[in-house]
Amino acid sequence: MSQNLFFTVGPAQLFYTIKQHLNAALNEDIGSISHRGKEFQSIFAETRQGLRALLSVPDDYEIYFVSSATEIWERIIQNLVVSSTHHFVNGSFSQRFYDFTDNYRLDSSSHTVNFGEEYSDFSVPEKAELISVTYNETSTGYVFNPNNLSALRKQNPNKLIALDVVSAVPGIPVDLNLVDTAYFSVQKCFGLPAGLGVWIVNQKCIDKAKEKEKSGLVTGSLHALSSLKSNGDKNMTPETPNVMAIYLLNKVVQDMLNKGVKNIHNETIYKAVTLYNTIEQSSVLSPFIENIENRSKTVCVAKVRDGNNALIEQMKAKNLIIGSGYGPYKSEHIRIANFPTHSKEQIEMLADLLASL
Ligand SMILES: *Cc1c(COP(=O)(O)O)cnc(C)c1O
Repeated sequence: MSQNLFFTVGPAQLFYTIKQHLNAALNEDIGSISHRGKEFQSIFAETRQGLRALLSVPDDYEIYFVSSATEIWERIIQNLVVSSTHHFVNGSFSQRFYDFTDNYRLDSSSHTVNFGEEYSDFSVPEKAELISVTYNETSTGYVFNPNNLSALRKQNPNKLIALDVVSAVPGIPVDLNLVDTAYFSVQKCFGLPAGLGVWIVNQKCIDKAKEKEKSGLVTGSLHALSSLKSNGDKNMTPETPNVMAIYLLNKVVQDMLNKGVKNIHNETIYKAVTLYNTIEQSSVLSPFIENIENRSKTVCVAKVRDGNNALIEQMKAKNLIIGSGYGPYKSEHIRIANFPTHSKEQIEMLADLLASL
């Protein structure tokens, strides 16, 4: 059995109950059941209901299962946009969604600042139909200020707002009422194996896709929102889905609900404070994000004096796997996941080791 403890941000340390649920899944023949049968339908319905409770998804929002957050970027473009989007970009993930709009020859715009830097301009061009915000930029450990999200909502009542909540939920709260669509992959904060994306949409999104189809435009085939909806209304998916992943998500969501959403959020804060205190007091480490309000609680990023290699190797020798930096910061930064699966004791142990560097 592996002795490793992963503090990488994704794929990440699996949630501590996964092994037990995987065993149960095999005993229950989850890998062999029909995705058109009653058993799957009830797993589907329960998972949605659990996510609704865990993430406070408003009643009139729908939840669909696809393959990843990256897929959802493409589905958003296909279903919710005709010609233009506006993006807030200060890291690799927010940049990648913006790049997709170029692949689709959209007339999109962005407010792009340097990696990890605070945004300065919250105006949105009139032509933009949808605004893209990345809540937790996993590449840099930058968290978007929720007050700015409220302001965007107020200033743009007729545009759609899409919120990337990968690596944010369920570690930190998000007010989904402020956005029209939100989405995540499960291999980060949820601690599940990769291969499942969750797409939350409100009625405005469903209407927009319908309008697009009515006017003769293409919204895709496999995961057109209309197809996700007609199948979802029957607790089914258009294709044979990753049934095992949906089953595991359901189990982990139930475990998290039993633990309590408030407890998860409070523990996340406590562990983040522990990590950032250590990083600030260290002579080797310093926080990458300057502004305290914008420091991610779930992905703690630090610059390492003289590069991260020695530190990462030193920790690996103790079976602690630390994430390297992303993109241009690959060898300069460390990224530490502070997810619900990481206990206070594990984070304290890591902080003690970092403090002794
Ligand atoms: C990881 C990540 C994605 C992409 O997730 P995939 O599962 O690789 O599709 C998108 N946005 C953010 C913020 C991420 O951290």
